Amino acid sequence: MKILVVNAGSSSLKYQLIDMQTEKVLAKGGCERIGISGSVLKAKGNGNEKVYEKDMPNHKVAIELVLNALRDEGVGVIKSMDEIGAVGHRVVASGEYFKKATLVTPEVLKTLEEKTFELAPLHNPAAATGVRACMEVMPSTPMALVFDTSFHATMPEKAYLYGIDYNDYKTYGVRKYGAHGTSHKFVSAEAARYLGKKPEQLKIVTCHLGNGSSITAVDGGKCVDTSMGFTPLAGVLMGTRSGDIDASAVEFLARKKGLSHSDAVTYLNKKCGVAGISGVSSDFRDLEAGVAAGNERCALALDMFSYQTKKFVGAYAAVMGGLDCIVFTAGIGENTPCVREDVCKGLEFLGVKFDDKANAVKNDGSIREISAKDSKVKVLVIPTNEELVIARETAELL
Ligand code: ADP
Repeated sequence: MKILVVNAGSSSLKYQLIDMQTEKVLAKGGCERIGISGSVLKAKGNGNEKVYEKDMPNHKVAIELVLNALRDEGVGVIKSMDEIGAVGHRVVASGEYFKKATLVTPEVLKTLEEKTFELAPLHNPAAATGVRACMEVMPSTPMALVFDTSFHATMPEKAYLYGIDYNDYKTYGVRKYGAHGTSHKFVSAEAARYLGKKPEQLKIVTCHLGNGSSITAVDGGKCVDTSMGFTPLAGVLMGTRSGDIDASAVEFLARKKGLSHSDAVTYLNKKCGVAGISGVSSDFRDLEAGVAAGNERCALALDMFSYQTKKFVGAYAAVMGGLDCIVFTAGIGENTPCVREDVCKGLEFLGVKFDDKANAVKNDGSIREISAKDSKVKVLVIPTNEELVIARETAELL
């Protein structure tokens, strides 16, 4: 069976067509600038690449173009749409309404639209638009919702609750939900496979370090805690996000800067993080270049990021009562050796013996061991593959 994985943003739509027998990506690409001028679809398939500059006033037109590209003579990989067994949609937030991946029914779509939008106002409406667009164009193909939050559904109450009035948690659903769940799930399972162990035998800390970053404690294959919170603003500082901050400091800053509540949250999401600290960039490649040129604030931003990540690794080792493996993944986790080194150095007391040489090897897309052979705690770099998890979960539902 072939499964189409769709990741719809407010003005974008990324896709992959995956053959579930081989788990190979047959075709992939994305539409940009949907609903604005200059929309474009970049499609890859059959070893070819094609750019379609076509008007895409909405997601329905975008998905029609994607389906045409999948049947195109140059980049096409299927003859008919009937070859697509199902569509798996990435959804950022589930709240407490969905604990796991779910097949789309009118009832499910209603819950998604009526209950979850306010939990992820930028992402979930876009996902729902993507689902509706696909349903219109392929009405008889099963659709699944796969949530970024599902892997975190196993967290115990003591881990996901904030210290607020319990009734407010019950009434408003304010609690930690986490994010990047599909990635944490994938890399923790891959780590177990690589180490030749069952997930039940391992205590793993997975560090998904990208534009958005989150760290998760995976005990026996299940998430027991994670660094992101009610929204993906919490945890370590990120590209432009502040990470954890005292709520009183937010109120103070808002007053001083004359910001409304929602403007203050936008400020924390868009103007802070390593971009705010360095004053240079949210991109770690630029920060490294800044450090090489002697920029102290770039060095400080990198230092803060590694320090905060390390604190979560230590905290989660304590939470799990031990540590067998640390996994690094995503843009920074896979490509920035200095961050991995700064996170792991000093953790010898936990049994981490770092291998500088292995750490310096350039990312080639494979799983790499960057701890010494005799390290009690294995440190791995594992390329993430969220689309494959979405495709697998969709296939399981069928
Ligand atoms: P997102 O959260 O947007 O998916 P990514 O996981 O793609 O983010 O990570 C993006 C970040 O990874 C960039 O901002 C950059 O700082 C960092 N990075 C460092 N080296 C590379 C690289 N070679 N390729 C891609 N990203 C890199």
